[in-house]
Amino acid sequence: MATPKRPYIVPVFIPHAGCPHRCAFCNQTAITLSAMSLPSVQRIRERIDRHLAYPRDPDRPVEIAFFGGNFLGLDPPAIGSLLSEAGRYVETGKVGAIRFSTRPETVTARRLDRIHGLGVGTIEIGAQSMNDQVLAAAGRGHTADHTRKAVAHLKQRGYETGLQMMVGLPGQSPEDAMDTGRQLAALEPDLVRIYPTVVLRGSRLAHWYATGRYRPMSLADSVSLVKSLYTMFCDHGIAVTRMGLQGSEAFEASGDIVCGPYHPAFGHLVHAERFLDMAVKTLEGHDIQAGAVTLAVNPRNLSRLRGQNNANVRQLKERFGIDRLTIKTNPSLPADLVSVVG
Ligand code: SF4
Repeated sequence: MATPKRPYIVPVFIPHAGCPHRCAFCNQTAITLSAMSLPSVQRIRERIDRHLAYPRDPDRPVEIAFFGGNFLGLDPPAIGSLLSEAGRYVETGKVGAIRFSTRPETVTARRLDRIHGLGVGTIEIGAQSMNDQVLAAAGRGHTADHTRKAVAHLKQRGYETGLQMMVGLPGQSPEDAMDTGRQLAALEPDLVRIYPTVVLRGSRLAHWYATGRYRPMSLADSVSLVKSLYTMFCDHGIAVTRMGLQGSEAFEASGDIVCGPYHPAFGHLVHAERFLDMAVKTLEGHDIQAGAVTLAVNPRNLSRLRGQNNANVRQLKERFGIDRLTIKTNPSLPADLVSVVG
């Protein structure tokens, strides 16, 4: 059976909208590079029309996504206006469904009643951690129990459910992040996003960093931890649809990133480390005597096996004393396999 194609997302940013909180790590304006108010109907329309005009795979479903704020925390008239605008595209068949992200405590039966039948297919919850102490330290203003209840509400109503978590939060150990991952997996979401904590200008975290109260994770530690979480979610059959903040040249040039494990290709780094692990395991099982070794991988994963700027190739050569390491592609190999040729 063919795997369903991942939707083509038309993102509509509603930075910080509907959110009375200020999480320690948040500077939502920096992330979305937009003003902190709801975009006008006209601007939403222009944005959607522009995205729909881009050439794309016609078989890929299209979804409009409201991100960057607390959707169900908006005033009911604002929710109604955004959904009716997006809903016009659903009615005409140009778009398949609408999705949004929201805080856990806003997912209530009353609010879900209001959006019933308005074209929403997926709701993503910003869980971030399942440790109440970590949530409190980050100033989240909700508990793990809010997340459990929110997921139960969404599942009861048949929504596709997404959960977002963070690593490297203040007071959060790697073991604690793994524990959060396991607790989220036990809720059986349809998809998960994992974000490393990055220190953004203007956030409380930036102040804590400046005064020595907070130290971000290194990029290498963050990549390894997210790799373990990715593997754990995959073992539970849960799709991980994003690892790392959405990178953009404008975001990087803005000077809003103070420090922390930001990388424009964070997800690629995670996959490269996974494929390095696989290659090491494969090579350890072989008696390497010749100075030349050839590995094979599915073409989809060639760049992952090579690693960023061929870093994996260099590491493997050094570790196993290989003079010449060649990598071949073989479309008949399973996606997650590295084998030795010959
Ligand atoms: S919930 Fe936190 S991260 Fe999300 S918009 Fe509000 S303050 Fe920012």
